[in-house]
Amino acid sequence: MLELVFPHLVTVLVERVVVESSVLRIAASTKDGTAAACPGCGTSSRRVHSRYGRRIADAPVAARPVLIELSVRRLFCDNSGCARVTFAEQVEGLTSRYGRRTPCSGSSELSVSSWPLAPWSGWVWCWASRSAG
Ligand SMILES: [Zn+2]
Repeated sequence: MLELVFPHLVTVLVERVVVESSVLRIAASTKDGTAAACPGCGTSSRRVHSRYGRRIADAPVAARPVLIELSVRRLFCDNSGCARVTFAEQVEGLTSRYGRRTPCSGSSELSVSSWPLAPWSGWVWCWASRSAG
C-alpha cells in the first residue's frame, strides 16, 4: 500500500507518517544491505560508516507543507585510489547532493483539493511526470 501512496518513497522504508496541524511529517530511512555508488569513482559499496538525518521539503499536500525526515547512510568507498574515504548515499528522485527540496517540489501545478480522499495525487502526478521526462 505504501508503494501506491508514496510512489517516490519506494526505495526507502517509511517508518511513520504524522499529520500535524501545519505540516505532514514523514519519517523514513534508506534500506540496509543495498549498494550505493561512490560519487567520486563509481565504485558501489554497502559498507556502512554511519547514519545521519536529512530533512527534505516536498511538494505541499492539501496546502500542508510536507517534511521528509530521512535517515541516510554514509558509506565507505572501498576503492583505495579514490580520494573519498566515505560518501553519503543518494536516493533517486528524493535527494540530491546539496538539495533540501525534492526535484518536483517547485512545480506550481501540484494542487490537491480533496483531503483526505486523494491526499497523495499531487505526488503521483509529480512522480509520473518525472518518469515520463
Ligand atoms: Zn570512491
